[in-house]
Amino acid sequence: MHSNSNILDVTDLKTWFPIKKGVLARTVGYVRAVDGVTLSVARGQTLGLVGESGCGKTTLGRTLVGLEKAHAGEVLVDGSPLSRLDRRALQAMRQKIQIIFQDPLSALNPRMNILDIVTEGLARFSMLEEDREAVAGRLMREVGLRENMLYRYPHEFSGGQRQRINIARAVSMKPEFIVCDEPVSALDVSVRAQIINLMLDLREKYGLAYLFISHDLSVVSHISQRVAVMYLGKIVENGPTAAVIHSPKHPYTRALIEAVPVPGERRRGKIVLSGNMPSPANPPPGCPFHPRCPDGMTVCRETFPRERAIDDQRVCCHLY
Ligand code: SF4
Repeated sequence: MHSNSNILDVTDLKTWFPIKKGVLARTVGYVRAVDGVTLSVARGQTLGLVGESGCGKTTLGRTLVGLEKAHAGEVLVDGSPLSRLDRRALQAMRQKIQIIFQDPLSALNPRMNILDIVTEGLARFSMLEEDREAVAGRLMREVGLRENMLYRYPHEFSGGQRQRINIARAVSMKPEFIVCDEPVSALDVSVRAQIINLMLDLREKYGLAYLFISHDLSVVSHISQRVAVMYLGKIVENGPTAAVIHSPKHPYTRALIEAVPVPGERRRGKIVLSGNMPSPANPPPGCPFHPRCPDGMTVCRETFPRERAIDDQRVCCHLY
């Protein structure tokens, strides 16, 4: 249900990729990367999206910014359904949503200088209202870089500086919502906190909302007001960050929290679960987590658990 306080409302979103076989390339199945996701992001807030690699979180982010095509479901941005907008309206709406990628170097064209990179979107959408250098210089200062760096190329910068350039490019479009796909995972630990703090400052200054995708629950908990936990294409738990971290309901969320490294505790640092995540091309019946769940019951093998509200948290599990 859309609320005016939300910049994003996603209902039953599915992003499936066809599996083709034979000389006629017939579709024989689907990889269900995103399989019925419903979530909302409030204006000016951050929703953290966590889960193991391969759970579908990056595909979900790419679908929201139009880099992947949804198979089914609805996405409302600022109350407007993307699927029902004409081309011009869709283009205007797309400016409200930007993305920051995990690898800051491959996200930047090595043959373009920084001036061109950070003003490219503005020029393409005829949004340059003043001198390009002045606009680019302001963006550079905004992200903690010097404007005398404008004529350099991406390879001349460190990883942290490149991610600042990516952030400047995203912010240049005056977005209301940014998908941040593992934005600090490829960076040195020493610069991660600086980039997170920059993102927090920009959120505060411009009222930005983020979908912050990460496999690292400790990073997500630092920046997010709410957290959604994804497993095999589905959201299995969703709630206020403090509640999810301190009182996780879903057995998978508990396993993720157990895996957060704690100084002095050698057993932590990796997910302690039996087996691997099943293939999204052949998900198990019932609860998708049942082959690995330490609390599994007979019903879990047969019936998909409906989402239930427990205080402020929402969880898909037969234990409740
Ligand atoms: Fe485990 Fe069953 Fe809950 Fe799934 S529904 S998480 S298998 S207890």
